Amino acid sequence: MRAATLLSDVFGFDSFRPGQQEIVEAVAGGQNTLAIMPTGGGKSLCFQLPALLRSGVTVVISPLIALMRDQVRGLREAGVAAGALTSGNTEEETDAVWAALDDGTLKLLYMAPERLASGGTIQMLHRANISLIAVDEAHCVSQWGHDFRPDYLRIGELCEALDVPLAAFTATADAETRAEIVQKLFAGQSPATFLQGFDRPNIHLAFAVKDGPRNQILNFAAARKGQSGIVYCGTRAKTETLARALGEAGHSACHYHGGMDAEDRRDVERRFQQEDGLIVCATIAFGMGIDKPDIRWVAHADLPKSIEAYYQEIGRAGRDGAPAETLTLFGPDDIRYRRQQIDEGLAPAERRAADHGRLNALLGLAEALHCRRQNLLEYFGETPGPCGKCDLCDKPAEVFDGTTPVRMALSAALRTEEW
Ligand code: ADP
Ligand code: MG
Ligand code: ZN
Repeated sequence: MRAATLLSDVFGFDSFRPGQQEIVEAVAGGQNTLAIMPTGGGKSLCFQLPALLRSGVTVVISPLIALMRDQVRGLREAGVAAGALTSGNTEEETDAVWAALDDGTLKLLYMAPERLASGGTIQMLHRANISLIAVDEAHCVSQWGHDFRPDYLRIGELCEALDVPLAAFTATADAETRAEIVQKLFAGQSPATFLQGFDRPNIHLAFAVKDGPRNQILNFAAARKGQSGIVYCGTRAKTETLARALGEAGHSACHYHGGMDAEDRRDVERRFQQEDGLIVCATIAFGMGIDKPDIRWVAHADLPKSIEAYYQEIGRAGRDGAPAETLTLFGPDDIRYRRQQIDEGLAPAERRAADHGRLNALLGLAEALHCRRQNLLEYFGETPGPCGKCDLCDKPAEVFDGTTPVRMALSAALRTEEW
C-alpha cells in the first residue's frame, strides 16, 4: 500500500481523515475529480499525496500567495520537491523553479491563477511533463460567489490543452456553485464527485472513565450478545486476556495482533467476516482490509492515540447504515501513556507537537460536557447542532463537582501544560 506508506512517512499521519482515501485513489488514478470537504477536513493531502504517486509534475492553482508559500514550505520540510510561481517571487526563486521543472525533478508546482494569463507560462507547461492539475478553492471560478477570480476561468482551457486530468477542491457545498464548477472547469462533463460530510449518524458515541475496565467491557458486550463487535486494546497482552474473559462469559471471542503469525491472523479475519456474532479483541493492526458491513459495535478498552484514529476505529461499525454502538474507556494512565508514546517517538519536534494536538483534541472529546458528535464534527470543520445520539445527549453530564478522585486526577492531567 504505497499511499498508506507515504501518508505516514511523508505527511506524518497515522490514518486518513474521512473521505481522503477515496479521493486520493480517484485523483491518483487519473480521474477528473471534484471533492467538496469542510474547511480543515484535509483537502491539501488529497492532491499532494496523488502528486507523489503519479509520475511528472502536478500543477496546483491556488488563489492566495500566503497559502501557497505555506504549503510549499511544509512540503519541502517533508522532503518533497515543491515550488511556487507567484508575483512575490524573487527572480532567483523563479529561475530555480523553472530549472527544476526543466530537469524533471519538481513534483508540485504551485501557481497563482494570474500566471495562466501569460503565454510564456503556458509554453513552459507544454514543454514540462505535467501529469495533473489540482485546483484549490475551486469555488473561485464562480462568478456569483464572493471569491470570484476571473483567471480561474482559464483553467479549463489549460487542462484541455495539456490533456491531463483535473482535480478540484472546495469547501463550498451548495449545488449552484458545484454546477458552475462543473461547467467552467470540467467543460460540463461531470467529474467523479465526492461530497464529504463527516457525520455517521447511525453510530452512537459514548465515553466512560475507567472504573473496573474489564467489567465495563464485559457488561457492554453482554448487553449486545450475539452481535459482531471489535474491542480495541492498547497492548497485545490485553487482547488475549480480554478475549479469554469474554469467552468465559459465554461469548464467541478471539484475539488479533501483529505478533501473531500471518496464518492465524488471516484465520481470524476470515472468521470475523463469515461468522455472526464474533467478537475480536485486537490492536490497531486489525482494521486495514476489514470490510464487514454489519459490525454492530466497537469498544475501546484503552484510549486511542488521536481523534483521527478514534474516528477511523469507531467508523468501522455500522457501515450498513443500521444502528451501531461504541464505547471508549479512558483514564489518567492512558493519557500518560499516549503522551509518553509521542514524546519518546523519533518524530521531529513540530510533528510531535501536532500529535499532541490530535491527542488533546481526543481528550477534549472524552471530557466534553455537551454533545460529543457536535464536538467531533466541529473538529473536522462542520457546524452541526446537538445530535441526540450520544451519551451526553442521552443524559446530560452532571456538572463537574471535583469530588470524585478519578475525575480529579483526569482534570489535573488535562490541565498539565508541559507537553
Ligand atoms: P482544508 O484544505 O480541507 O481546509 P487542510 O488540507 O489545510 O484542510 O488540512 C487541515 C489540517 O488537517 C492540517 O493541519 C493538516 O495537517 C491536517 N490533516 C490533514 N489530513 C490529515 C490526516 N489524515 N490526519 C491528521 N491530520 C490531517
Ligand atoms: Mg485548503
Ligand atoms: Zn449528541
